Amino acid sequence: MPDESQNHATTPNLASAIQPPRLHLAQLPTPLQLLSRLSERFNGPRIWVKRDDLSGSVLTGNKVRKLEYNLAQALAEGCDTVISCGGLQSNHCRATALLCAQLGLNCHLLLRGSAPASADGNLLLDQLAGARISYYPASQYQRELDALLLETKQSYASQGCKVFIIPTGASDAIGVWGYVQACAELKQDFEHCGINPQHIICATGSGGTQAGLTAGVYAYGINAQVWGVNVCDDEAWFVNKVNSDLRDWDARYQTGIKLESLSVKVIDGYVGPGYAQADTEIFRCIADAAATEGLVLDPVYTGKAFFGMLDQLQQGRFGSGGDIVFIHTGGVYGLFPQRSHFDFLNH
Ligand SMILES: *Cc1c(COP(=O)(O)O)cnc(C)c1O
Repeated sequence: MPDESQNHATTPNLASAIQPPRLHLAQLPTPLQLLSRLSERFNGPRIWVKRDDLSGSVLTGNKVRKLEYNLAQALAEGCDTVISCGGLQSNHCRATALLCAQLGLNCHLLLRGSAPASADGNLLLDQLAGARISYYPASQYQRELDALLLETKQSYASQGCKVFIIPTGASDAIGVWGYVQACAELKQDFEHCGINPQHIICATGSGGTQAGLTAGVYAYGINAQVWGVNVCDDEAWFVNKVNSDLRDWDARYQTGIKLESLSVKVIDGYVGPGYAQADTEIFRCIADAAATEGLVLDPVYTGKAFFGMLDQLQQGRFGSGGDIVFIHTGGVYGLFPQRSHFDFLNH
């Protein structure tokens, strides 16, 4: 819980940390907007949205903030080829493929699943961006991902390429910076809007966004608890993953932050049938948010997290007043491949 007595003067900033290289690739700052009609309906804390879905049109979402750091590192190391991985409709892979094209880098994606007859959503954009794509059955991908990444790297290296591997979701020591620095922006947003939110909520899929936010609020003296709503696996898995990303970040950059002071909190219970699979209530929530506020969520990440946030709000987890902030992490291209679940809109 936020501690009202915390003295901001003693909050460590990151001036003593080793500064990472960064590229400016996202459209920043993104807007912070109040959802007035939904807030009124739920009659609890006011609900604000940080519109990171507006970080770029085809770059939309949270990954571009992290990739500003991962790709800067790749260039700093003189790499000409980037290898990354994810699901067939990975937003991270789509942003990586497009940014590699923009920067003149080769991109090779290892995707979980089989090649569809015709590509849709993020996968279509991967193809347009000219990424090389290898498809692996889910079971093999799960078992052998590290070996497959290494194998692919070696095959490029043997052709004289210099390879940089970006792990799932760019959630690693380097990618953590993306949402640490997003907190500098949030701090300004809050000052500008005259609010002091007590809770910040995001979807958690590989943990890097939550890790960055958790360290960032502390580093920038924002008195809010960060909550990740997991969209796969479970609470224990993500508490461990987020803490492990934070330890790697601290070890690599000597941040000076006391990691014990950070509060890693996961809200479990909204995964539904599984990763990228949602129940009807999620599709109805997505349609409702679009019709009520013009806010378009997705069934893989933000729809589940937004639904979970509203459910927890109703149960009183975020108190009865004040302000809360939902981080809209993007995902719109993942909506279209699941169009058949919106058939209820035609009746
Ligand atoms: C990747 C992703 C997330 C989850 O972020 P992580 O840093 O991987 O936990 C949330 N929303 C969208 C739309 C994403 O693409």
